[in-house]
Amino acid sequence: MNLAKLKTTITLIMVFLISSLSYSQKDVKSVFFNKLKNKYMFANDIKKYTVTYKFKSVNPWQSYDYKKPEDKNNGYGIYTIEIDSDKKVYFTHDRSQFPGNFVFEFKHFKNNKKAIFYDVNGVISGKKLRNLRKNAFENEKKRAGEVLSFVKVEDLLSGHKRGDDIKMKVNNNNTLVTIIHTTNEKIINTYTFDIKSLKLVTLKSTEDDSVVNYKNYVTENGIEYAKDLTIYKSKKLNAKVSIENFEKTIGISDSKFAVPFGYKLPLTKQTISSKITQITNNIYLINTTNNSRFILLKIIDDQIMVFGAPLSDKISNKVIGLIEDKFPAKSIKYVFVSHPHNDHIGGLVPYVKNGATVIADDYTVEAIKIFPNFKETINLFRFKTIKNRQIIDGVRFYVLENEHSLKQSFAYLSDEEIIYEGDFLEVPADNSIPSHISNVEKQFIEFVREERLKIKRIVQHHRNSNVTVDVMNKYYDMNL
Ligand SMILES: [Zn+2]
Repeated sequence: MNLAKLKTTITLIMVFLISSLSYSQKDVKSVFFNKLKNKYMFANDIKKYTVTYKFKSVNPWQSYDYKKPEDKNNGYGIYTIEIDSDKKVYFTHDRSQFPGNFVFEFKHFKNNKKAIFYDVNGVISGKKLRNLRKNAFENEKKRAGEVLSFVKVEDLLSGHKRGDDIKMKVNNNNTLVTIIHTTNEKIINTYTFDIKSLKLVTLKSTEDDSVVNYKNYVTENGIEYAKDLTIYKSKKLNAKVSIENFEKTIGISDSKFAVPFGYKLPLTKQTISSKITQITNNIYLINTTNNSRFILLKIIDDQIMVFGAPLSDKISNKVIGLIEDKFPAKSIKYVFVSHPHNDHIGGLVPYVKNGATVIADDYTVEAIKIFPNFKETINLFRFKTIKNRQIIDGVRFYVLENEHSLKQSFAYLSDEEIIYEGDFLEVPADNSIPSHISNVEKQFIEFVREERLKIKRIVQHHRNSNVTVDVMNKYYDMNL
């Protein structure tokens, strides 16, 4: 592209702006869109491709230390998505890593026969297969497009072709062009292009209150794309993406559509409603979110100690409702949370409003105090800060410095020989033995062995409410 020519055009347009605004707007816009169309023509030929990118989300409430969400020891994902738009098939390999060396790895695909999701090392769903929805291909293609700068430009060009409302502004020193695209769904996407190279610099969208900065453009085989993306949501740094590989392919190898041996679809697909189940004389279990999380209750005379407050007010209100129905004459004295990750503390407010005191270690208490969701209610919170080995109403709490969260604690109900833990152990519901063990799980198993804790049952917050010592040991030994 000829820069001098473009500059002249734009200068002319500025003059026109004064005399005849609507005419000049139209003219400069069509010149710009023609250039854009020509430059991004290459995108039309990309029907089959593979993209691999690293996605590093910046979330204090899933970090090792909430004060340092950008530290290297926090989680990230490496995702590879293969798309074949001609056949409308895809294959994806998602590998996510979380603090403490938790590795969650999934493969999923849609071909002309099926759409299937499975867990590679079996940490989350064991050997259970899951059928995907009919629109799985469209969803995955959209997901891949989210990280590809030229796909975003294609969206704009399609909008222009359709005749959507598009406004254009050239900035003062003629270096950037801003395009404001209002979609049919009334979403406003604001694109900023470098006027000289026509590279997309920034995309702001009202759809999710996001701003994405595109950096480090590369050109490989005639395809130009930004390698690094910085994503802001609600004005806060949300994630960093870097594209590790992008290339056109001739399609997806059939071998990718094979499900490994031993995996099965469940016989029935059912949603399991929450209920209270008695497991010993004074210990009760509550299952929530379709058996993906568990809450434990200890009855102490006319009071109740609750273990676990996951996710949201909605879930806690439901759980508290079940408790009140079952034990109308008792009150909830305490609620214990293991560490300050949002999925573990997100449901605290209803307990606090109910008069319960929060049991947690000092690090967790400190984090809860500044958790953004509790901004309005934090003055209502009462805390009982626990130290390692502290005993409260017959429950011994262990507070461990560990790799998952600066501090994480678990409860040992010594009379009943039950452990309740948050993210110290992740055995899947079917008790199959995962092929990867995290550092934090190893550390936990070694700790309970050294401590010689007598254990009949480990109640995991996640997915499995009855892990035996035998399964725990097998998990450790098989991953030495
Ligand atoms: Zn966690």
